[in-house]
Amino acid sequence: EEIVRLREVTKAFDDGTVALAPISLRVRAGEFVLFLGPSGCGKSTIFRVVAGLAEPTTGSVEVLGGTPAQARASREVSYVFQDATLLPWSRVRDNVRLPLALRRVDRQTTEAEVDRALELVGLLDRGDAYPHELSGGQRMRVSIARALVTRPKLLLLDEPFGALDEITRQKLQDELLAITSREPDTTVLFVTHNVFEAAYLASRVVVLSPGPGRIVADLQTDASSRTA
Ligand code: ADP
Ligand code: ADP
Repeated sequence: EEIVRLREVTKAFDDGTVALAPISLRVRAGEFVLFLGPSGCGKSTIFRVVAGLAEPTTGSVEVLGGTPAQARASREVSYVFQDATLLPWSRVRDNVRLPLALRRVDRQTTEAEVDRALELVGLLDRGDAYPHELSGGQRMRVSIARALVTRPKLLLLDEPFGALDEITRQKLQDELLAITSREPDTTVLFVTHNVFEAAYLASRVVVLSPGPGRIVADLQTDASSRTA
């Protein structure tokens, strides 16, 4: 099953900045694809295009068999950004529950799904805490739980660990690998400029060039036992 398909996608902004040279890419169900490249090479732009938050200038994008906007509306795509913001005045459980509340899922199912998501990230016992009572690493785990609570088919992670210290980052990487091995149907796209993260996490690494993003390498790794 094809989850993401980019055909000759380019992106130029109004001020003339070219963020993406033509990019073509195909991602199949269950892959963990990591996009590696220096700051400014267009990684976030690719994500915004896949997420339906930006239109490509030329080329076409297909996500879960439809347009990015359709995939977004179906809520089968979830995102986690580096500065993942939780509602500060809401407890952890309420933050994680939010995507389901928006979907009018019944109460019993909702609570079971919130438990499941918090358990996946190891925070079942912190459901009543407020975000300010948690460490940065724990807040990131809550953001990941919120993204997973809808059982997305596609998970987009944009530098999720960038603001964390090295030890916390290492712990969360291990946790992410544990989560994805328990949720093998979830396709993950992960953006980073950290080459060690790339080698450690992904079954496939797409390397982007500096300047207008172009794919300079697309590698299968043996760092992960996951296969597409
Ligand atoms: P990365 O995520 O790899 O750091 P981005 O996708 O954020 O790169 O940015 C790619 C290029 O596009 C950069 O040169 C950036 O300055 C530029 N860019 C991003 N957003 C805009 C915008 N809204 N207007 C103009 N230029 C932009
Ligand atoms: P991490 O292991 O994610 O880096 P910390 O080292 O910051 O987290 O915190 C260690 C433990 O202390 C965690 O189990 C966390 O639950 C608890 N903790 C951290 N900050 C607070 C706080 N402000 N209030 C209550 N408990 C906290």
